[in-house]
Amino acid sequence: MYLQLTTRCNMRCDHCGLNCSPDKGKHMDDWTFTKALELCSGYSETITFGGGEPTCHPRFKDYVQRALDYGFNVWMATNGKKKTSMWWLFDQIDLNEGKLSVDLSLDSFHERIDPDVRAEFVRRKRCRYGSDANVLNVGRAKKNGIGTMDDCICETTFIDPDGKVWQCGCQKVQIGTVWGVEFLDDYASCSEKADYNQRLLPASDYELQASL
Ligand code: SF4
Repeated sequence: MYLQLTTRCNMRCDHCGLNCSPDKGKHMDDWTFTKALELCSGYSETITFGGGEPTCHPRFKDYVQRALDYGFNVWMATNGKKKTSMWWLFDQIDLNEGKLSVDLSLDSFHERIDPDVRAEFVRRKRCRYGSDANVLNVGRAKKNGIGTMDDCICETTFIDPDGKVWQCGCQKVQIGTVWGVEFLDDYASCSEKADYNQRLLPASDYELQASL
């Protein structure tokens, strides 16, 4: 289950499939977040915090703590730009012994971040290296003519900041709200598409790119 905590981001990447930026976006409110946790608890032990950039949500730290207290495993990807949030997250990762996982998104489109933050993610082997040759052809990537792949942006149940529950990140098929959902027989159709991990570069390739 994917919880889109916010559609706000502190970057404005040319390839962003969700058109996120610093000057617009919506945060999930507290009531919706609470109902989303209740809903997810019936379906999954692990939830993904997504965005936008999850750390842009004003209650991000509280929400991480609440999800962990609820008993979930929490995974998220971050752009790593909020340095103080990153060090807070590293502490939480160490305190929560495998319950919280955070990956740094790295590719040629993201802004360069603080080198100490990046080095810590590298040390922890938690970098996700995107390839310029494999960019989903949606959102700003499509508008900018740099998308190369027609695929789903998130192949799992997707809860947006309004509490609408979608079959997947394409946000074409709504299956309910955080107050109640009805899963469809063809629910697995999106997950049959290419695994996102297959679109990621080995670290060595990215480091080669970055040094050019
Ligand atoms: S960091 Fe992620 S969410 Fe933010 S603009 Fe870039 S791709 Fe979009």
